[in-house]
Amino acid sequence: MSNVAKRLAPRVLVGQIFQEAHGFTPLRTPLEAFAIERGQAVITENMEADSVLGGILRTGLVEGWDLVPSIAARASPGGRVTDDAYAHLLSAVLDAARSGPLDAIALCLHGCIQTESLDSAEADLLRRLRELVGPDVPMVAGFDLHGHAGGGMLDHLDFASAYKTNPHGDAGATGERVAKVLARILKGELRPVGMKVLVPMLTGGNDETGSGPLLEMHTAARQRVAADPSLLDASIFNVNPFIDGIGVGQTIVVYARDCEGRESAGALAQELGEVMWAARQTFRHTLPTLEQTLERTRSRIVLGDFGDRVLAGAPGDSLYVVKKVLAKHAPLRVVAPVTDPAAVALCSQAGVGAQVTLTVGGAITGAEPPLKLTGTVLSVGVGTYRNRGAFMRGATMRIGAYAVLQAGRVTLLITRDPLMSQDPGCFLDLGIGLDDADVVVVKSGYNFKLAFGAWGECVCIETPGLTVFDPFVLGLKKARPLYPLDNLVFEAAAVPTIPSALGCS
Ligand SMILES: [Zn+2]
Repeated sequence: MSNVAKRLAPRVLVGQIFQEAHGFTPLRTPLEAFAIERGQAVITENMEADSVLGGILRTGLVEGWDLVPSIAARASPGGRVTDDAYAHLLSAVLDAARSGPLDAIALCLHGCIQTESLDSAEADLLRRLRELVGPDVPMVAGFDLHGHAGGGMLDHLDFASAYKTNPHGDAGATGERVAKVLARILKGELRPVGMKVLVPMLTGGNDETGSGPLLEMHTAARQRVAADPSLLDASIFNVNPFIDGIGVGQTIVVYARDCEGRESAGALAQELGEVMWAARQTFRHTLPTLEQTLERTRSRIVLGDFGDRVLAGAPGDSLYVVKKVLAKHAPLRVVAPVTDPAAVALCSQAGVGAQVTLTVGGAITGAEPPLKLTGTVLSVGVGTYRNRGAFMRGATMRIGAYAVLQAGRVTLLITRDPLMSQDPGCFLDLGIGLDDADVVVVKSGYNFKLAFGAWGECVCIETPGLTVFDPFVLGLKKARPLYPLDNLVFEAAAVPTIPSALGCS
């Protein structure tokens, strides 16, 4: 705290590294897949964003912090980040941390990045930062609740908090929460102590927070934290179920304001862990099929392609829904995204206005065969878009190389790389109007409901692909034993997030 006293404004390192791994896709995520800001642009470009970083920046402004930008980098969920890309992102953060004395660090992280060599990039990043700045510089981070919190990333943080909603409508609020805790740590008002429980299970659906077992758990957690003045915050991490790694499971973490609340925090973490385990068989869902959905309604419907969700790391290369519509519901006007590098190249070479015949889709996984189409190239280019809906509103997302093809009543947004299509901005910012569409296909299972609700009815449908919940086909090894793969006995027991905090000396 002495450094703070000497200077007027605390120097707080800020940054964002945001991507979510699917450990079983053949793709990798290179540096080019990230939308990146550096230097002052980290602050100016993200100040308005409804992301954890935006929440940190806005709170820092109010608190009068001297913000030290490192890097802000966001990529679509997908394959493991290449070692080269991670080395670049890591050094951007470490170089900024070396640029002068720091009073604190506040980061926006997804929490589920895996690299070619690491099962938790965030654990590695935070460990290296801790080694660099020493034990006395407070370090906090806000996470997506699908983060791999059992993989070691909590061990280096003074405070961590995850979104409390799925679909995720509270990223900015999560950033504000961690930054406000940091402000109070810097003022000497708090010294958080975290207690965590790892529940060895995967969820297989029914894992939104607005209903079902997670609604009850979040409600109980919120009430207990509000009623107990020794407690600060409780997070329930539902790890992305498409990764392997030591500690993959559900992580409950409860922070007390200081050492005196340690037992209360441990008791709540343990209780929530017991509730989660007892509810393990209820985390399942049954989704409607395309046919069931189109029998019910045929206008202004947004279909979440559950099995091929780019937002959970699938390649987004399946045209399953479009093919079914063409086969049985041809009068419907459809807008759909699809990942296909060769088709983008072919359309780009042909040029805007050209008529092309091509096969598209099925280019990466091969699970869903390609579709042959003849159409007109409406546009080609390299794009970005801005989120309009509540999920990361205001944040700029990368589209990369793309082509828009009109084939009869089907409008395809073909991208070279997997596209996050949870927001109408990805279509509108490329000039693809949605007013005349009957059906919009998105590669999202949850977050699209926050952004497309004003346009039409949002329904997640059962489709094939890499993001169907089926841990039995994935071949998880390091995460074992794990429900539902193994028969195991589990008793919840809370342990400190920072092992040295056991005695709270
Ligand atoms: Zn998430």
